[in-house]
Amino acid sequence: LTPVPSDLEISRAQIPKPVDQLAEEIGLLPEELEAYGRSKAKVRLSVLERLQSQPNGKYILVAGITPTPLGEGKSTVTVGLVQALSAHLRLNSFACLRQPSQGPTFGVKGGAAGGGYAQVIPMEEFNLHLTGDIHAITAANNLVAAAIDARMLHEATQSDKALFNRLVPSVNGVRKFSPIQISRLQRLGIRKTDPASLTPEEINAFVRLDLDPSKITWQRVVDTNDRFLRKITVGQASSEKGQIRETGFDIAVASEIMAILALADSLGDMKNRLARMVVGTSRSGQPITAEDLGVSGALAVLMKDAIKPTLMQTLEGTPVFVHAGPFANIAHGNSSVLADKLALKLVGQDGFVVTEAGFGADIGMEKFFNIKCRASGLRPSVVVLVATVRALKMHGGGPNVGQHSNLSLVAGGCRSNLRKQIQIVHLFGVPVVVAVNVFKTDTQAEIDLVCQIAKECGASDALPCNHWAQGGRGCSELAQAVKEAASKPSDYQFLYNTEMSIVEKIRTIAQRVYGADDIELSPEAKTKTDYYHQQGYGSLPICMAKTHLSLSHMPDKKGAPTGFVLPIRDVRASIGAGFIYPLVGTMSTMPGLPTRPCFYDIDLDPVTEEITGLF
Ligand code: ADP
Repeated sequence: LTPVPSDLEISRAQIPKPVDQLAEEIGLLPEELEAYGRSKAKVRLSVLERLQSQPNGKYILVAGITPTPLGEGKSTVTVGLVQALSAHLRLNSFACLRQPSQGPTFGVKGGAAGGGYAQVIPMEEFNLHLTGDIHAITAANNLVAAAIDARMLHEATQSDKALFNRLVPSVNGVRKFSPIQISRLQRLGIRKTDPASLTPEEINAFVRLDLDPSKITWQRVVDTNDRFLRKITVGQASSEKGQIRETGFDIAVASEIMAILALADSLGDMKNRLARMVVGTSRSGQPITAEDLGVSGALAVLMKDAIKPTLMQTLEGTPVFVHAGPFANIAHGNSSVLADKLALKLVGQDGFVVTEAGFGADIGMEKFFNIKCRASGLRPSVVVLVATVRALKMHGGGPNVGQHSNLSLVAGGCRSNLRKQIQIVHLFGVPVVVAVNVFKTDTQAEIDLVCQIAKECGASDALPCNHWAQGGRGCSELAQAVKEAASKPSDYQFLYNTEMSIVEKIRTIAQRVYGADDIELSPEAKTKTDYYHQQGYGSLPICMAKTHLSLSHMPDKKGAPTGFVLPIRDVRASIGAGFIYPLVGTMSTMPGLPTRPCFYDIDLDPVTEEITGLF
């Protein structure tokens, strides 16, 4: 339709096929499906075992140039591309998308189901509770937080003996360690299984985590943009006996548990990662883990359903996995390894799986390659790099929205940001196809110019895409180009060897990806780096926490900045997820609400149960 109706109107006009029908079409067995309502279902991981001898399909990554704050259409291209591959080229294809945080849905951003005629439906379900994974993460994360504060209170108010008697209760006159306690004893170097044989020194080491309140890194989370929780004081009731401390809340998707969900490749792997999460350090400087708190088994229980990807469909009835949505700056911002693996088996050898990396290629794609591909062992055949005329004009020196046709600004943006982002993809040895996401204000001359310069800069191909206005049909040339590029051999390589020092890995990313002259570590960052090496975490990959609005650390420096030194303010670690994250500048992990948030427009008709105003 012209003009294109709202996302919600388009979504609602299409009745999704029943999820069991969709599941049958893609080769799932009825017992592999756990339906949540009529149009979405969780898929059991046993599919991986059943299809283990089936060769994988082609793996396609959608990344983007440095975006404007509005987003340049990676999710819509992901959805449009699978619609084109499936419905128009008749190839099996699957899209793998992140689950959006509910906070921004009611705040400023809008949804993440794609848009126009390239959407996942029903978009209300996609953007709201879905199948409860984020709620499970919130519950698990906050159980760890409660365990930390309760443990500190109990240690502060009880003797070693009283703690021991309660931690290892006597049942019918016999004390027995639980498996999780035996594992803690082993990490302490105490190889005993009979509680009665522990010396007083061993009892002391066992019962006292002795967490340093000023070194607790674990925060509580909630999936609401609630800025007043950024800094809080807990323990103010008299029952907490003065155990008052300052802490804070993050948005739920910033929890390390979300990053773990995205990187785990089995239930066992997730459980081990949950156990390894470091929540703080003891007064003697030892890392304290979720397993030390005794909570890791309970976390696995809370997360056992969240680990199964959720099956949904596009407007054109093709399958989509929605799974995990880690914060794209302090975490790696990619959907789950498990959804990609399941989809690659389900599409078969000649099929295509299209997955998306958050932010621009310098951030989301770099982390996709260096963190996610390292964890999964998967290698993509092609990168689709999404560009828009509006963002390119901004990189060419124009304001960031609302300018008229201007070929010299477009050319400037192509020769700076687009060229650099193509070069970044080539660092990994993967061919790149540029997708120009067409907006109705773009002129033909502008679009032609972007395609021409993209090819001059080494893209295998570059094409305009009209999926937003036309669905898969508007994206069929892109699908054809992706199919051709995927048939050529790619020469994948990692950017760095994880055995390099933390500082060398950071420097490699800063110089080769961002174009920095060098890096400069603050004294705090230097101390932390040394500490992580000492603790044996030095060979983890790096997850840079940098603004996505520039290739540099300065959001207002557009194009492809040069001649800058990247400041590393602090370095932190997500040991369970398995990465070190250097902070470049300050990162907010709890968004706030604007004066007029999106919720003003969101409403429900109590008779029809129809939701209105959700974009
Ligand atoms: P990203 O994934 O890069 O953040 P999205 O695909 O979510 O970007 O798109 C951002 C917003 O822009 C969405 O609301 C989407 O509907 C809208 N959008 C994307 N492409 C177009 C287009 N070609 N014309 C108009 N609006 C678009």
